[in-house]
Amino acid sequence: MPQTVCEDRRWKSFLAHVRGSVDNRSYAAWFQRLRLHQIENHRLTAAVPNPFVKSYLEKNFRVALDDAARHCLGPEASLHLRYCAACGDEHESVEEPQKTTGLEGTGSSPSSAAVQPVIAAGSVPELFLNDRYVFDNFVVGPNNQLSHAACLQVISAPAVAYNPLFLHGASGLGKTHLLQATCRSLSDRNPGLRVLYVSCEEFMNRFVEALKQQTLDSFRRRLRRLDCLAVDDVHFLAGKKRMQEEFFHTFNALHDARKQIILSSDSKPDDMLDFEERLLTRFQWGLLTSMLPPPRETRVSIATRKSESLGYRLSAEVAEFLADMACSSVRAIEGMINKLVALAELYQRPLDLELAREALSDQIPACSVHTPSRIASEVASKFGVTVADLKSARRARRLLVPRQLAIYLTRTLTDASLNEIGGFFGGRDHSTVANALRRAEHLIGEDSTIRDHMDQIRSALHIH
Ligand code: ADP
Ligand code: MG
Repeated sequence: MPQTVCEDRRWKSFLAHVRGSVDNRSYAAWFQRLRLHQIENHRLTAAVPNPFVKSYLEKNFRVALDDAARHCLGPEASLHLRYCAACGDEHESVEEPQKTTGLEGTGSSPSSAAVQPVIAAGSVPELFLNDRYVFDNFVVGPNNQLSHAACLQVISAPAVAYNPLFLHGASGLGKTHLLQATCRSLSDRNPGLRVLYVSCEEFMNRFVEALKQQTLDSFRRRLRRLDCLAVDDVHFLAGKKRMQEEFFHTFNALHDARKQIILSSDSKPDDMLDFEERLLTRFQWGLLTSMLPPPRETRVSIATRKSESLGYRLSAEVAEFLADMACSSVRAIEGMINKLVALAELYQRPLDLELAREALSDQIPACSVHTPSRIASEVASKFGVTVADLKSARRARRLLVPRQLAIYLTRTLTDASLNEIGGFFGGRDHSTVANALRRAEHLIGEDSTIRDHMDQIRSALHIH
């Protein structure tokens, strides 16, 4: 399809934007073969080389594609994908990537672009893992040291030391990375070992499929034959009674047979709502370790290492600049680096502080400011309530304590007056705020669980 210079420039800008918002492997796997078909007013049509790529992109990257289209063609832009054999690599076979687990079923996984088979022999289940998620690429810091050490221990003595090993922490802090690295190392070291890494979502999908196909027995048999089962993001089982029951039996069977179980979740068992008590008890049988946001020094190392892996050496000032822009998640640091690398390549510019400042000029440094609303949202998420709950007039105990702690943190971390704090927390008066502060101080002094919560909130707010 012949293109004008203007179309070509817009198309490149579209691709650069996509590249800044998806990880490198996904970009290489799914976007590099996109071709510009046409740009008509606000409508951008891209050609895809086969129908599977089209449906995969629609399903998994719709938001990134729409964002990128709006970025280069304005707010009304729309993006259309069109299968066009003659536009791309027409000799390509129209095959889906293989499924990601050794369980029953045929569906493909959203992450299959970024996985590759590790083992696929005889009765050993296939283990598909992201090849970036290895120990060599994992930066150890005070925030994840214990989890990292526990994983190494599991590798050297599976099912002996910690069973289950339960990693918990907010999104983007490396849980999946560690789980996959552990599974990979386990099977590398013991090629006969039956190791399975599975996301909780995949586990549930396979279960539903087995129910439908009436193959539950074989689904169970396969799981129970494993030597190590790692289930990522078990918090997705919340409220799903039937799934929890199935998982409970799988857990028991493996644990009784002294097989290793590794789990990850966005919170620790005590804070997991809508779970059967017996399951939560089992989650705590082994070792619980937390994954916290990395301190600045670790963020600097992560920025440096990540850019090196993409072929760029960052100066200390750029690495520090990035570390100060993203402090709540490693994923955010990676996103920024991907964006910078894409821009450096597109504009053929060095990846220096000037480029970093320009590229990230629309982002506010996340680490330096503590606003009442940021504090309130951290406290609310820690306690499983909403900011609106904290501001409301309701006086249920489940709201009182988080509200008092949020008020206390706002008082200690910002220079807001008692009246301003009262105003933010639903129009409370000065004496109510003073009272909440006294209650919070008392609680913190008396109750070690509250102190733990406060430590975690502080850490989420990056106060070390
Ligand atoms: P989670 O599962 O906790 O949401 P992930 O494991 O998916 O987080 O991590 C998000 C991204 O950050 C991944 O690309 C991962 O490789 C990277 N990452 C997380 N922690 C580290 C670390 N300590 N060192 C290097 N990369 C990390
Ligand atoms: Mg994860």
